Amino acid sequence: MEKCTFCVQRIEEAKIAALARAGASPETRIPRDSFTTACAQACPTEAIVFGDIKDPESRVSKMKEQDRNYRILDYLNVVPRVSYLARVRNPNPNMPDAETSASQAWWRKLPE
Ligand code: SF4
Repeated sequence: MEKCTFCVQRIEEAKIAALARAGASPETRIPRDSFTTACAQACPTEAIVFGDIKDPESRVSKMKEQDRNYRILDYLNVVPRVSYLARVRNPNPNMPDAETSASQAWWRKLPE
């Protein structure tokens, strides 16, 4: 087992490409959302989003702005780089698909 490196080789490749593109110019910034990690690239549902959280316009920053965003052990102030989006659930039994939707079945199984 290996620890995730956030695909450091891809980050370095993007840095080198930005430097090569810049040449003598001082503009060495990596274009926004121009590369991603291998796992994010391979995920067919786009469940993993990678990007520059210091860039407020990046896709990952926009997703982290959502109310559903949370970090594990945040209350210990460990400041992890990975955060998650809480699952969307609608336990309202009056919704049209409430009885037939498998994704809604969790609330019916809860003990009273
Ligand atoms: S593929 Fe994903 S889990 Fe693996 S090193 Fe890259 S970012 Fe980490």
